[in-house]
Amino acid sequence: EPIIRAQQVEKYYAQPSENRIQVISPTDLSIQTGEIVALLGPSGSGKSTLLRMLAGLSRPSGGEVYWHGAPIETAKINVSIVFQSFALFPWLTVMENVEAPLKARGMAATERRERSEKILDTVGLDGFEAAFPKELSGGMRQRVGFARALVVEPEVLFMDEPFSALDVLTAENLRSELLELWQKKTIPTQAIFLVTHNIEEAVLLADRIIVLGRNPGHVRTDFRVATLAH
Ligand code: ADP
Ligand code: ADP
Repeated sequence: EPIIRAQQVEKYYAQPSENRIQVISPTDLSIQTGEIVALLGPSGSGKSTLLRMLAGLSRPSGGEVYWHGAPIETAKINVSIVFQSFALFPWLTVMENVEAPLKARGMAATERRERSEKILDTVGLDGFEAAFPKELSGGMRQRVGFARALVVEPEVLFMDEPFSALDVLTAENLRSELLELWQKKTIPTQAIFLVTHNIEEAVLLADRIIVLGRNPGHVRTDFRVATLAH
């Protein structure tokens, strides 16, 4: 049983003209424990739309998303999303940003602090607890984004173009660090769903790649990334 199973999921957006724009045509896919799945496609191909439906932020126009076999509306899900734009709270320190989702869940201060310190350590932000986002480089800000997403130990970590706002070298470093942490099993999540328009990024990070074509609604769900022997 996969964590997430999408069955004949589709999405169209209503238009003022009453024509409907089909963004995702009926699609079956699943996300299993232990895998990184990349969703690859050009800008405007429907990647964010599909991510939102799998994460429970948006309702499919047709079909159903299941979490552990239960329809997503009735399932208890624990997910986080990392955004391209970081989406940090500018008036909060690094530590307060990371603590925020735990606070929202009513976790006690001591445990909150402990969990946050540990994840800040993991993502390389030890010593930056008291800094504000505007004092940090883009790469460091996205580390805060990762820490805030991971501190709740999400069952699935969703990432929507997490490296796209960073310069090439920073992105490269952060990608390989993420991969190393994932392979060492130090990232507290069961699966990663990565949205990207960067084919090299998908091939580097993913076990499996889902491709959205330029034609609206065109989805291919099963490109496996081969492991090459050296
Ligand atoms: P991607 O993430 O691949 O760039 P999106 O899922 O953001 O693609 O968007 C796919 C298409 O659907 C685009 O043409 C976009 O303009 C359109 N779209 C996305 N969200 C909405 C919405 N809420 N209402 C109308 N059209 C939308
Ligand atoms: P729902 O499916 O729950 O109605 P949508 O997926 O339609 O939610 O919309 C969610 C997000 O899409 C909103 O944040 C909205 O601002 C954004 N959005 C609206 N129109 C567009 C568009 N044309 N292109 C891209 N994103 C859009």
